[in-house]
Amino acid sequence: MQRFNHLTGSEERCGFILPDGSLVEVKNLAKDREKEFRMDPATVVEYEDKVWGSFHTHPNTTSNLSGDDFVAFTNYPSMHHVIIGTDGVSCYVVASSGVLLKDEAKNLPAWEAPQLSP
Ligand SMILES: [Zn+2]
Repeated sequence: MQRFNHLTGSEERCGFILPDGSLVEVKNLAKDREKEFRMDPATVVEYEDKVWGSFHTHPNTTSNLSGDDFVAFTNYPSMHHVIIGTDGVSCYVVASSGVLLKDEAKNLPAWEAPQLSP
């Protein structure tokens, strides 16, 4: 996905995707930034009701979600969660059955013209 192409480097980068599709990058406060990300909680509170979703990069692994990602995503079930990995971009949604990978064919238009789910 072209819109994520600038998110390079060996450390994970993270932020939010706004309803118009633009990105707001947030500083990664994790200790081991090559393997994880952590956003400032105050920033998350500021954005959580206004965004289409979150994004973060996996510079050294695939876009599969990690155990920490799973826990983090389930805390924000109203958001889409995009991971940019070495194999491409995956988008996850939180359902009652767990965290699901959105079908890519359905998913691509969703973040080209994202909408906040009700
Ligand atoms: Zn991750």
